[in-house]
Amino acid sequence: MDMHRFFALLLLSLTFVCCLGLPAPAGAADASSAYAAAKKELASLKGDDRRGSLREPWERLVGRFDGIVRQYPNWGNVPAAMFHGALAVEELAIRSFRKTDFEDAARRFEKLAARYAWHVLADDALLHAADIRGNRLGDAADARKLLDTILTRYPGGDMAESARDLLASLSGAPGGDAPKAPVAVGRSGRLEQDDDGPVANAASTSARAANPSADGGGVAVASAADGVPAAKAAAKPKKSARSDPAKAAKLYAEARKELDALRGDAKRAALREPWLRVMALYEGARDAAPEGELAPNALYGVAVAQEELASRSWRKDDFTAAVARYNDVVAAHPDDSLADDCMLRAARLRANRLDDADGAHQLLEAQLRRYPKGDMAGEARALLADLTAARITAAQPGKAAQPAPVASAASGAQVPQAPAAPARGGKPAVLRQVSWRADNDRATITIELSRETEWRSQYAAPDGASGRPPRLYIDFSEALPDDAVKPGARVSGALLTRVRSDQPSSGHTRVILDFKALKRYKVQAVRNPYRVVIEVGATDAALPDGQRPDDSRVSVPVREADKAAPTTPPKDLVEQLGLTVHTVMIDAGHGGKDPGAMGNGITERNLTLKMARMVGERLRRMGFSVIYTRDRDVFVPLDKRTAFANDKKADLFLSLHVNANTDPRICGFETYYLDLARSDSATRVAARENAVSEKSLSDLQFILTDLMLNAKTQESRDVANFVQDSALGRLRRTGFPAHDNGVRSAPFYVLMGARMPSVLVELGYCTNPDEARRLASEKYLSTLADGVAEGVASYKRKLARFSQR
Ligand SMILES: [Zn+2]
Repeated sequence: MDMHRFFALLLLSLTFVCCLGLPAPAGAADASSAYAAAKKELASLKGDDRRGSLREPWERLVGRFDGIVRQYPNWGNVPAAMFHGALAVEELAIRSFRKTDFEDAARRFEKLAARYAWHVLADDALLHAADIRGNRLGDAADARKLLDTILTRYPGGDMAESARDLLASLSGAPGGDAPKAPVAVGRSGRLEQDDDGPVANAASTSARAANPSADGGGVAVASAADGVPAAKAAAKPKKSARSDPAKAAKLYAEARKELDALRGDAKRAALREPWLRVMALYEGARDAAPEGELAPNALYGVAVAQEELASRSWRKDDFTAAVARYNDVVAAHPDDSLADDCMLRAARLRANRLDDADGAHQLLEAQLRRYPKGDMAGEARALLADLTAARITAAQPGKAAQPAPVASAASGAQVPQAPAAPARGGKPAVLRQVSWRADNDRATITIELSRETEWRSQYAAPDGASGRPPRLYIDFSEALPDDAVKPGARVSGALLTRVRSDQPSSGHTRVILDFKALKRYKVQAVRNPYRVVIEVGATDAALPDGQRPDDSRVSVPVREADKAAPTTPPKDLVEQLGLTVHTVMIDAGHGGKDPGAMGNGITERNLTLKMARMVGERLRRMGFSVIYTRDRDVFVPLDKRTAFANDKKADLFLSLHVNANTDPRICGFETYYLDLARSDSATRVAARENAVSEKSLSDLQFILTDLMLNAKTQESRDVANFVQDSALGRLRRTGFPAHDNGVRSAPFYVLMGARMPSVLVELGYCTNPDEARRLASEKYLSTLADGVAEGVASYKRKLARFSQR
């Protein structure tokens, strides 16, 4: 962080600490000025896209309002402070898209209304809570209860009319999944108008339709006989709506303008609200003239906006909603030229975003049946071919050799690991079918054979240089694929990405399976019919009897028969497995004009440079080649650092940092790898380390979702684990207090774009006086450097275990 921000923070936290430390004064003047300042910050944060897109300033602001309530419980304006604290949480929620934030906001409003039922803000608070529960959290029943409370308790209040409107819009949506015509909720009585203007509730309602139940949990696309999505209430305009083509045209034009503007405005596009507004405008255009010529286009606009929102929020329910919105167009306007476009787009979403190849398949077949000559037919056929190839069906019983009887095996019994004895001398086994089931985390691949035959499996770790993903080879020394088994298929959108078969030599068939990620796998043979079943997991969750790929028992030992067979282990495999770490790029965080964190006499930029040299020296002694992003006190932009590592073809990127926190009690050692943040504290650390870049944290989260497929997340997490464990181990063995904050993930700008495994090490908190003292000691730093270097060496040894196989 830069110096100004740091001091501002420090001042802020000092103010806060001082305030808490004082005996509660009756000082209404203090409370008023603290409240006024916090309100000013709320306004400024709402208007500041860059700061407003970070989580930290909002949390700090909420803390300020909470602090006022705690410290001046008897101050007359406590309800207003509570109200604004809740508003701040609501604003945060709108930006974070997090359900927990919305829940927090609703609870705060409800608490205020319960505790200060007599206060002028009580009904405002209830209305906010109802709006959040009904439109954000999909809980219409609770929302209705809150609105009823407003109407019974404050029938003449200034919120009553808004409450009635909201109630009407909620009641009109039984089950909560039918988007309604826009109901402009008058909110003239609200204290703080949204900067974006009043939020049309219809938009929030249709966003709520995003929940998977809206179209059957993302499974049943084709409920009608011919596979075309059944018309849903959602697609039907309001019966009572009078046709007003002029209004429709006006709203439609407005929607298009908004959509274009939003596409060109990355900052605003990163928020949810503007997309909901575009959708509301399109829906309004359709409802103004449901039979008008613009209606199909307007409904199509809703779907497109929903899809674009989904591609930014990366939420499954948003993608599901987009599919539902495209289906709405087809259901309401089956004869419009847009209908086949919609089916194709819905099918793509199902296949690529929702891991629902079957659903996509059904949609495409329905599309081709209905619109065989449509301009989207070609693309539909291509996508269908892709999906069909993904199920290489080859059952041709007449042609296949008879299964060899397996007298002793019970039906479906598992033959653990050891391959069956080959039926020597006979015809080669026939590989009859390869089929699979895969989602994001798990995949099961079944290779069916005409009879028992010898097989072996090999794991190849991913390789950044060649772009090879995690891969499994299953080799059958005496088997031939059936004619109908296609040589290869790409699989869309699931853990399993590609299936191929190959014949490296006569009589030898190899099945090659590519994965997005691979953490555990097991391969075993099952009889009746004889098949080899491969189970793969992308997470640490255990497979039934699952093994980690680095488990030495994983590969099936080469048997006599293999040696006799004309084939040797795949030639390229050893090279592929020869992944190792030669060159380590060490990145001393910050430097030059960017001092990084400061506290208790420690300046991050200096300490990281010192540690970089210490770690580098140790790695060099261990035989690594070491390069540095900086070897003196200069400023190096974050994106230059990994670019440099890529240029130099480094095998590992190690970024060293010193942590800071406004709470001086927090201390400890933690190692990060690049991924979405999974905790608020990790988010805060990333926000701090990214401060020097122009990108906001939400920008980074969006960039990251696109990067993740290529990022070496698994390897980076491995490195992080090794570094964390050995550093902590070293400290403990040397007798230093070791606070293990664990391995975490967060979107660090400095790690983005690295083509090699990369980690960011936070050596300790300079804001903790004890830890700062330790960080100033040579012995401590030397121990830490030993540990970090040893972690890198352990990772290298792990890779070596593969290549020796
Ligand atoms: Zn740093």
